[in-house]
Amino acid sequence: MRECGTCSACCHVAVVPDLKTGWTDCIHQREDANGSCAVYGAPERPDLCSSFACSWLRGFGHDDDRPDRSGALLTVNETAPGMIIGFLGELEPGAALGRARHIAVAFAEHNDVPLIVVEHGRDDAGRWVVVRDDLRDRAAQIIGQEYARLSPDVAMYERRRPGDGLYR
Ligand code: SF4
Ligand code: SF4
Repeated sequence: MRECGTCSACCHVAVVPDLKTGWTDCIHQREDANGSCAVYGAPERPDLCSSFACSWLRGFGHDDDRPDRSGALLTVNETAPGMIIGFLGELEPGAALGRARHIAVAFAEHNDVPLIVVEHGRDDAGRWVVVRDDLRDRAAQIIGQEYARLSPDVAMYERRRPGDGLYR
């Protein structure tokens, strides 16, 4: 069973209603090097925090892929009934194409769903989509032009949003 240890990446990245916006420190983070939660186990800790576990904590990837070590936070969410989608938030600029690239590739190779990549510091629905080549047709409604090839059978695309524009 994995433990968060010194990681507190989700406390900075996540939107927690009535508490914090995305990409900001939480008022409950301790002012130590790890930014750990001062209300861990206390009633004032939101249920959202208590129930959250990133993909690494759930067993995805290697020990070195813990978000604070890999530079990216991977989660899998059900955005609508039956609609499973992966999200990779960059904890540093360029992480998805840099040291966390292998995480995006591994996710795409082992899951038949798109992976939305949220650019570092942007509190939006994600700028890019990572898709395995054989799923490209199924993802046609949400992908624009190819942005980068991550592996022989996985590529990152500009994300298309409803109404046809691209996230920029
Ligand atoms: S990002 Fe994952 S490993 Fe890091 S504190 Fe949050 S749940 Fe734990
Ligand atoms: S309440 Fe605790 S677990 Fe939730 S975001 Fe704040 S510091 Fe993190």
